[in-house]
Amino acid sequence: MERKVRVRFAPSPTGPLHIGGVRTALYNYLFAKKHNGDFILRIEDTDQGRFVPGAEEYIIESLNWCGVKYNEGVGIGGPHAPYRQSERKALYKQYADFLVDKGFAYYAFDSAEELDTIRKDLEKQKITFQYGANNRNELKNSLTISAEEVQQKLNSGEHYVIRIKIPENEEIQVNDLIRGLVTFSSAQLDDKVLYKSDGMPTYHLANVVDDYLMQISHVIRGEEWLPSAPLHVLLYRYLGWENEMPQFAHLPLLLKPDGNGKLSKRDGDRLGFPVFPLRWEDPKTKEISSGYRESGYFADGFINMLALLGWNPGTEQEIFSLDQLVDAFTLDRVGKSGSKFDPEKAKWFNHQYLQTQPDAEIAKSYLNLLTEKGVSTNIEFADKIVKLIKNRANFIEDLWAHSFFFFSAPTVYDEKVLKDKWKENTPSLMLAVKEELEKNQKFEAAEIKEEISAYLEKNQIGMGQVMNALRLLMVGASAGPDLFEILALLGKEEVIRRIDTGLSSIKK
Ligand code: GLU
Repeated sequence: MERKVRVRFAPSPTGPLHIGGVRTALYNYLFAKKHNGDFILRIEDTDQGRFVPGAEEYIIESLNWCGVKYNEGVGIGGPHAPYRQSERKALYKQYADFLVDKGFAYYAFDSAEELDTIRKDLEKQKITFQYGANNRNELKNSLTISAEEVQQKLNSGEHYVIRIKIPENEEIQVNDLIRGLVTFSSAQLDDKVLYKSDGMPTYHLANVVDDYLMQISHVIRGEEWLPSAPLHVLLYRYLGWENEMPQFAHLPLLLKPDGNGKLSKRDGDRLGFPVFPLRWEDPKTKEISSGYRESGYFADGFINMLALLGWNPGTEQEIFSLDQLVDAFTLDRVGKSGSKFDPEKAKWFNHQYLQTQPDAEIAKSYLNLLTEKGVSTNIEFADKIVKLIKNRANFIEDLWAHSFFFFSAPTVYDEKVLKDKWKENTPSLMLAVKEELEKNQKFEAAEIKEEISAYLEKNQIGMGQVMNALRLLMVGASAGPDLFEILALLGKEEVIRRIDTGLSSIKK
């Protein structure tokens, strides 16, 4: 029988969720949905020293904002609850004991200071210390001290750790769905700590035990975990769970925009774009990192952009709804090499998504923006402006820069435009145009255009000469949408007023 697809996103609450983490969650979600499987959120908080208050809530809020919904896990429960590892603390010990009994793991009593001294001594000789096959017989552990002594130490409550006994000179193969067969030599691995006398398992033990107990079929996670995979494979073998071992898929890294290294927390605000889905305030330092949500990105556009960072549909299509992504997604189209993060492309996606929003929706947001800017107007007028300028904006916020002149007449005029376009005869031309406009009845864009064009043609005046100057009087600059539309929206009275004001203030 085919195994039911069950995947999990298993972040540690050590800070805000990086966009690379969101992408991992997304790929898990897409894979689960595609195969009618389950998507689980498990919080891996066994490393209490790295726990950051608020991080778990942040992770959940981020997934909710993105629409990456899990159907089992922290906050919502499910058949394998609890899903927070600190609450599962009691169940890991038996597996550590089992490994010790079978001789696959051992107790070690070396203190942190002792190990540090050895490490430093070796460093002087340019040797990296690794607790393992080549030195475990000289260190303080249950392989070197008598059973009675070990028992004594345990009884007296001495601090200990349980370490895995990595086999000597063995090849360990990890079959990765993205990378194929990856072979590791056991000599590369150290005797990692699995369990500590404070009653907490480490990441490796808890992760494997929970993936097994939660019947996880596929482990889809970041490439930084690939070096841990052989250790996990050994744990499945030693615990007798090889047949239930999930399939692995290690996702490529997200790289800095220049391709030089992993996209890090620090890059974002340093390079002027967010690396977190939501704004985050560090509870200790109070340092603030910007978020996609607060920067005006649409969640669906953000997800669309992330999906294509490391995966490709095999076609030219770039715009995908979440459902379309579910349909199109396959792990074999996930690349092996890192994907450069492109902040401009993120904006491009937002632009595309803004254009597909219903005008009425954009107008509502725009009206809020106007209120923030101290402008009051009605929704009908906002809607007209939105129709005119939305294709110039990447973000709702941008709409202001493209439309502020509708709400305040220029008081200064662009120097360069004045120099280049304002000629000696411009004032008289403007007066003539004003006269024409005053005659106009309906004051609609098409009609104004027709009349002005006819007038200019009759008098053999070039369109450019008039348009540039008239735009300057309306907007104060050379930018902006179609001038006839601007005139129509401003209304006859305001247009005439702006011509008069401009003509009396521009003296050349
Ligand atoms: N807790 C690990 C993390 O923070 C999970 C890695 C995995 O998915 O196995 O990413």
